[in-house]
Amino acid sequence: MTAYAIFFYVLMFVLGSVMGSFVGAMTWRMKTNRDWVRGRSECERCHHKLAVIDLIPIFSYLTLGGRCRYCHKKISRSALALELAGGSAFLVSTMLFPSMVYQEWLDPLASFQSLTPMLSLAMGLWLVCLVIVMALFVYDLRWRLLPNKLVFPLIVISLLLSAVMNLGLAHVSLMNWLITLGLGMLPITGVYGILYLLSRGRWIGLGDVKLGIAIGLLIPWWGGVLVLFLSNLLASLASIPGLLKRRISGASEIPFGPFLLVATYLVFLLGWALKNILLVL
Ligand SMILES: [Zn+2]
Repeated sequence: MTAYAIFFYVLMFVLGSVMGSFVGAMTWRMKTNRDWVRGRSECERCHHKLAVIDLIPIFSYLTLGGRCRYCHKKISRSALALELAGGSAFLVSTMLFPSMVYQEWLDPLASFQSLTPMLSLAMGLWLVCLVIVMALFVYDLRWRLLPNKLVFPLIVISLLLSAVMNLGLAHVSLMNWLITLGLGMLPITGVYGILYLLSRGRWIGLGDVKLGIAIGLLIPWWGGVLVLFLSNLLASLASIPGLLKRRISGASEIPFGPFLLVATYLVFLLGWALKNILLVL
């Protein structure tokens, strides 16, 4: 059984790195208004169509020495970073998901056996959310925008995931589920919505408010408070090198969405453990 589990996790890492590669190509096609699901991948520099051998995540990059096979120009290192990040995000997700659902630490090699159909469905939906989250991360980082084309599907899949987890796995009543969802909207969508209205969009973009809806569906209200805290902490830490280097103050050049997304990922998978520690204290 252990061998199966290890094979499963290796497969999840490979799948995640393929998804990371897909996200890089898909966001580029969305930005350049091309058919963003079906179109063939091409080099961003010479636009040569890529062959299957060029599309193997991590492996292709390393064997080609980080250069395009056709025009020999450097492929940005972010492509490799995205593949490694996608693989790691999928691997960590599948290892922690059962622990998160049962709210206790389970051995990933053993919990692999406890993957019931309902649990597998929830995990599958989470991985779909994760692909969209990665795409939003890349898009906001590169072009400072959280496109509706990504945020709206994330809201729909998050709602489905919440239904499976609350009604299917935790057997919560419909009324209690709706109350949980309502409360979940308060920390991020509520706070950002008010800030958006007060500042007429100068402090907060509407994209962050809409992203907050998806986060509110994925994470209960106390987790939303954690997400707000953690994303602001991460953003502050990330701005330190820039502040030191350029000795400028004030307006940050970094968009806030990526921090919100990383915080959401961490709180979704590990928030329960932190809550348990806080409850003991
Ligand atoms: Zn090229």
